[in-house]
Amino acid sequence: MVNEEVLTYIENLIPDPQDYIKQMEAFAEKHDVPIMEKTGIEVLLLLLSMQQPKKIVEIGTAIGYSGIRMAVKLPNAEIITIELDEERFQQANLNIKEMGLEERVHTLHGDALSLSEEINKYGPFDALFIDATKAKYTKFFKLYEPMLSSNGIIYTDNVLFKGTVARDRSELKTRRQRTLVRKLDEFNHWLFTLDKYETTIIPVGDGIAVSKRK
Ligand code: SAH
Ligand code: MG
Repeated sequence: MVNEEVLTYIENLIPDPQDYIKQMEAFAEKHDVPIMEKTGIEVLLLLLSMQQPKKIVEIGTAIGYSGIRMAVKLPNAEIITIELDEERFQQANLNIKEMGLEERVHTLHGDALSLSEEINKYGPFDALFIDATKAKYTKFFKLYEPMLSSNGIIYTDNVLFKGTVARDRSELKTRRQRTLVRKLDEFNHWLFTLDKYETTIIPVGDGIAVSKRK
């Protein structure tokens, strides 16, 4: 989204993470796991370190990359994270164990839309991180938003979807893509109409929406 030259420049400034985290990045690249982009995770971690949440709920664990990065950055935080895909869930458990974080990063296997009652028992949460299927962002937001503490913040990843939300949808090849982009665009517009939250979109990584309780 940002000019390639500038992006490479910033990425080169970011110090290398620990070996195991680097291995996870390589694994994700090899197996096409859509973990957060380098600049995106940096901004998310910075915002979280300013917020200092004690409890975080994440929708979309994948292989545990973002959950682990958050847990490393925030040594006092507890993270509950949900993943639909069985294989990724198992891989996440393995990675979390390998990093020695199983006491603070709790994984749940299933659809976040059906697990809300169980997740609610772990709440209230100071931060909600939405990073799963984009077509369901509004549903995730509505279902999990009530579990936030009074100064809770919701972070939503991939809201710019490589810039497609800003482009003419007729340029998109498949109907499925057009529907997905339309839903995401509707979610973004809806976010900015909420009375309870003030939202801003940070155009870094794949676009991160930050919604703060008013
Ligand atoms: N947060 C991760 C990346 C998540 S990728 C990171 O940055 O490291 C998105 C993940 O959401 C995928 O692994 C996908 O299987 C999962 N997912 C999709 N729909 C879901 C749902 N309804 N409930 C839980 N997980 C879901
Ligand atoms: Mg993402």
